[in-house]
Amino acid sequence: MSCSPPLPEEVVRIELPTPFPVGPVNTYLVLRDEPILVDAGPNTKEAYDALARGLGDAGCAIADIRHILITHGHLDHMGLLGRLIEESGAEVYAHPVAVKRSREYDEDSQSARAFYAAVMAEAGVPANVIDTVTAESASYRHYGAQAVIGHDVDDGEEVLGYHAYHAPGHSPSDVLFVNAAGGYAFTGDHILERMSPNPLIRRPPPGRPRPKSLVELQQSLKRTRELELGWCFPGHGEPFRDYRGIVDSLLERHEQRSAKVLSYLREAPLSAYEVAQRLFPGLAPQHLYLGLSVAMGHLELLETNGLAVVEHRDGVAVYRPVDEDYSKEVEV
Ligand SMILES: [Zn+2]
Repeated sequence: MSCSPPLPEEVVRIELPTPFPVGPVNTYLVLRDEPILVDAGPNTKEAYDALARGLGDAGCAIADIRHILITHGHLDHMGLLGRLIEESGAEVYAHPVAVKRSREYDEDSQSARAFYAAVMAEAGVPANVIDTVTAESASYRHYGAQAVIGHDVDDGEEVLGYHAYHAPGHSPSDVLFVNAAGGYAFTGDHILERMSPNPLIRRPPPGRPRPKSLVELQQSLKRTRELELGWCFPGHGEPFRDYRGIVDSLLERHEQRSAKVLSYLREAPLSAYEVAQRLFPGLAPQHLYLGLSVAMGHLELLETNGLAVVEHRDGVAVYRPVDEDYSKEVEV
């Protein structure tokens, strides 16, 4: 790596604590006449204090922030946003899905819980486990807050010298902000060096079918592989350059896991919950949704690739393999 260009000096990484299993989250300060903050951390005192300290070390304060870019609409990346807007008057830019959901935060949280309870029931999760998971997710609500975001950013737009690429899969609102002239990009949780971004089950826009998150994530990853990103500043962990290697190993891991899920289905038709329990034995309720998203992602991928079919039994979606002879042709 000795031939790598140096890290761009205008970007300062500030790590904030989160109450989530993922650990700390990154925010970035871009040192300009009109300072830019990228992402906003969770809505906790600890994150706020760490941000204020980090900005102070760089000679800046929350009130100095003029613009805020949001990489995606998850609580660890934008929970503090409402407070930061209030204290700085900054202009904020995010994907339209994140804009809408943060504007309607309270009612949106309720409709999200009802949607996810129905998804879990269809996935075969027992009612008492659904209750535990729903209560757990309600307890996370205060790590976010309502925020009114002024600017929609969609695929192909230019914002403050950054080219926006919509990269859905981990969330519907993932946006890469690429600064070609500076040789770097803010990549959020779309690609991470030491973690596999979860293809989280998510709500569709009104009147549309539920997106197949893993299928969509793979499409986004394949497009990302073709982009010129330079240094990648991720949502978690240190900056990296080998995003193509990360994409390749993620796609390979998906392929292996899909083959594993297909082998389970050959033993017996299974619901997503049963697949999640086999993939992750002893899965705790607080991690159930992550495990279920992985299981469902692979079942939908197998279905999309013509290797599995789904049928409903007493309201539960059950998957079985199409044809055992296809076992060597799992495509991802
Ligand atoms: Zn994150």
